[in-house]
Amino acid sequence: MNKLNYMCPHCKGHLRVSNHIIFLTKTTNGKSGLLLVNSELGNYSVLMHPTLSYDLGEHVNFVCPICYENLDAPEYDKNLAKIIMEDEEGKESTILFSKINGEKCTYKIAKNEVKAFGDDKSEYRSSFGDIF
Ligand SMILES: [Zn+2]
Repeated sequence: MNKLNYMCPHCKGHLRVSNHIIFLTKTTNGKSGLLLVNSELGNYSVLMHPTLSYDLGEHVNFVCPICYENLDAPEYDKNLAKIIMEDEEGKESTILFSKINGEKCTYKIAKNEVKAFGDDKSEYRSSFGDIF
């Protein structure tokens, strides 16, 4: 298990517990629940209560479960959400991922470098300009 920290960009609260990142998720039509996402970039396995289910292609809002701020990243794309990753040396990167259920793409941004993960990673290529 790696020792990376994942934090809310607003309150810097730790979102990782064991090997999962915990989000409060909700849709505009009222569905809401806790979603646990695997902390390994590019691993899209999730855990949730059996009563929570999102449709394929549904737009899901990701919210910090500590400060309740929305994790939207409109500066990149309306379909992307962001958190902060801190490595063992304390260096921070921005992690972006798709809010669309079923879309597999994650981006790690540090200085002038973007690393992309997932089958759908080319979907938001244009959001990253020349550095992708
Ligand atoms: Zn927060």
